[in-house]
Order: sequence, then structure tokens, then C-alpha cells
Amino acid sequence: MPSHGTARTHHRTCNICEAMCGIDIEVDGDRITSIRGDERDPFSRGYICPKALALQDLHEDADRLRAPVRRTASGFQRISWDDALDEVAGRLRDVQRRHGRDAVAVYLGNPRAHNYASLLYLIPFLEALRTRSCFSSNSVDQLPHHLVSTLLFGHQLLVPVPDVDRTSFLLIVGANPVVSNGSLMSAPGMPRRLEAIRARGGTIVVVDPRRTETAEIADRHHFIRPGTDVFLMLGLLSTLFAERLVAPGRLGDFMNGLADIERLVRGFTPERVAPRVGIPAAQIRELARAFAAARPAVCYGRIGACLQEFGALTTWLIAVLNLVTGNLDRPGGAMFARPAVDVVALQDLLGQRGELGRSRTRVRQLPAFAGEYPAAALAEEILTEGPGQIRALLTMAGNPVLSTPNGRTLDRALAGLDFMASIDFYINETTRHAHVILPPTGPLERDHYDLAFHVFAVRNTAKYAPALFAPADDARHDWQILVELGARLAAPGPAAPLAGHTT
Ligand code: SF4
Repeated sequence: MPSHGTARTHHRTCNICEAMCGIDIEVDGDRITSIRGDERDPFSRGYICPKALALQDLHEDADRLRAPVRRTASGFQRISWDDALDEVAGRLRDVQRRHGRDAVAVYLGNPRAHNYASLLYLIPFLEALRTRSCFSSNSVDQLPHHLVSTLLFGHQLLVPVPDVDRTSFLLIVGANPVVSNGSLMSAPGMPRRLEAIRARGGTIVVVDPRRTETAEIADRHHFIRPGTDVFLMLGLLSTLFAERLVAPGRLGDFMNGLADIERLVRGFTPERVAPRVGIPAAQIRELARAFAAARPAVCYGRIGACLQEFGALTTWLIAVLNLVTGNLDRPGGAMFARPAVDVVALQDLLGQRGELGRSRTRVRQLPAFAGEYPAAALAEEILTEGPGQIRALLTMAGNPVLSTPNGRTLDRALAGLDFMASIDFYINETTRHAHVILPPTGPLERDHYDLAFHVFAVRNTAKYAPALFAPADDARHDWQILVELGARLAAPGPAAPLAGHTT
């Protein structure tokens, strides 16, 4: 831990996004004097984006909550940890006792995925809460990838990662990695990695309705009508089968259903899909041929491809394109990372391979995936009266009023809850509705290992960073809050009834 009058540089990992960039943080006492990219980090090699500087803002921000608060008629008032934890656990238990376990919902935001202790301690906490009303940011982000991985490879986390550092042909559909530095493809310094593809004679093709920063530096950019990527993928596959360019190679031994796929895509000729997608048939054919001829090639699709009406199907077809051209599990193709901590095996132990439809939402009968309902259903599950109605909510590191569909409706729904609590260090559009807010330590006050994102990294890496600053004596880490809440919820008391809706 830093001490006053001893300016030092500390090597850490930025924990804001999936790219896991190495950073040098210069500290004098408890004051951060600079944050720079760590040139000696073998994964990011000095790259950072402007967001890394936000770590200092977060650490120093006077508006960041550092003690629990309770909402009162005159605004949020500071309360003790014991009072806050007792109140949250007591009110959640009370709602479950009166209305059933599923009457308490949980919403988990994206930052929890960058916090290994949160991920681990959420498991026993959710066991203690025993609600099926679980929602998260997954369904407005990468859920189709997990579904496809479960269907194709048997586990939701077996997501093939484009080997951008060795590929000869990168086809990017609905993604902007120059800005994002990859997603489900942790690749810090993506501009440099893309330049390297071209420097070794490779090709980058972007399919996107927008002239993105990635499209700017690509060899070719195909503007596509929004939401029609599925037809382009069908057109590409149709061409490969028609021109006998399907060559899965050694993967053929592990595949079944190839004839079914041929039958499925046959009718989607480039001429037929061209008017839908807005790309001339000749260019679709040319793209299919170039992809098949490149050794190796890889197709990468992200949010623009997976978060749309046919998002899951598009994501599946992208995986099929990589498969039938022999570009799965090959250097320069789409590969599975081998992280130091095998989260796939860990989830296996917990029986969490990813399962669709074990339960359904009450109002629209939408299926759960991996134990979570779509975030878009949260508001209606709160607002629609009847057995199983959600009456209390605990949010963690999320702002769904701002980041999920129908935010205004959700805003209205949250205002009518019997009780709401948030584990968050900011009062924002969502947490302003909370009766109690429990703020965890800041991102530089806890140690860091990216349990989730090494699974999706373009190189096999392992990076651990100790906490930079000691938290205040009365501060709580996220995992401590979860442990203390879980213990209170699990304490003896009348059992909450199970709700009666569809299982
Ligand atoms: S790309 Fe992500 S990990 Fe890298 S500095 Fe920016 S926010 Fe941090």
C-alpha cells in the first residue's frame, strides 16, 4: 500500500472493461499522479484507452458513496452498516414471507463480471435468497453467444475467440473492435492488431450499417440494412455449398447435421438475399469465395449481429461459417482460450452449463437461460398484478433504467416497489429508487483477477493485481456485503412459500 512522500509506480490491470489492459499507476501518498499504459505488459503492450483515467475519477470522486444510506423524505441519509444490512435482509425476507420467494428479484449489472469475489460470493448469496426472479445485463449483451455455445459445444462459456494475431482474413459483422478492443474477444490494442493483419498481407472486411472506426481502416466495408445480417450469413453459406467450397477438414469427424444445414441454406441464394441486405449478389459471392480461400480466416460477430430479432440465429450461423470452412479450433481461426483458472470446469461442478427454458416469466412466458430471465421483462413483472408479481428488488452494480429497454417504464415500475435495495457506490437513475444503498469499496481498493475474461482472451494470459489502496476501516467489499446479507437471509425464521407460476 502506498505511503505519503514516497512516489511510486504500481503495475495493475484496468478493470473497467474486457480488454484487461496493463496500467502503470503513479501514486504519491494517497494521491494518484498519473495513469499510463504499461509498456511491459505482454498482453496490452502499453495500450490504454481514455477510460482508464476514470479509475482515478472513481477513486477520488466525492460523490462516490462510502457508507450505507437510507432514503428519507429529505433525501438519502447515512446509516450504519449493521442497520443497513439488517434492514435490507429483513425487508427482503418479509416480502418473500408474504408473497413468495420469487416476489424478490435480483438485477446484476455488468461490472460484477469484472470482480472475481462478487462472482464467487453471488453463488451462496443467491442460494440463500432462493428466487427464480433473476435478471442481469446478459440479455442485453452477449446472451445469444452463450446459447449458441451451449447448443454447439455443450457449455455456455465455450465461446470460440477469433485468433486475430494469426489470422489472414478477419470478417467483422456488427462489431467495432477499434473502439471496444474486442468483446468476447479480449484484445487490448486492437488498432495495432488490425494493422498487423494488413502488414502480413491479410484482409479485414467489415459488415456494418454504419461507417465505424473499424470500417474506416478495413480493406472493405459492406453497408448492410440493419437487422438483416442473418440473410447475409445464409447467402454466404448458400454460396459455399453451391460452389463446393465447404471444407471442414478434420472438424468433419466431430460434426453432424451438415446435410441439414445445406438443405436449410440452399434457397437463400445471393440473388435472393441481396435485396434484403442491400449488398449486391456479386459482392456476397465474392466475399464467400474470399473467406473460403483464405488460410486461415475467421468471422467475428458481436453486439450488432447478436442483439437483434434474429440475433441467436445469426450468431449460430457465424459459428457454422467458421466450422464449415475448417476455421474452428485452428490457429488464426476461432479458438478456445485456455485460462489459468478454468471457469468452464468450475461452472460444470455447479451444474451451470447453460440451460434454456428451465422456468418461464409469468407475464410473457419468456424462457430463462442459465437461470436468468430477459432484462426486458423486468418492468412488466413488477407492474403486472397477480400471483408471483415482483414486489422487491436488489440491484448490484447496474443501472437498468438507463441500460435496458423501456427504461421509462422500468423507472415507473421501480417507484412502485414495496422495497428496493442496491449494492452500488453511486446514486443514479436506478439506485435513486432504492430504500437502502450499500456501497462497496472502489475499484482500486480491492484486488483483481479477471475470472471471466481470460476465458475470452485472444492470448492465454493470467494477471493478478493486489489492491492499490487500503479501504477505510468501516468499508465493505462487494463479497463481504453478499456474505453478511446472505447470513442474515439464511438465519432461522419462517420459510417463504414458493410461488406458483410456471416451472
Ligand atoms: S480498453 Fe478497457 S481495459 Fe483497456 S484501458 Fe480502456 S477501459 Fe481499461
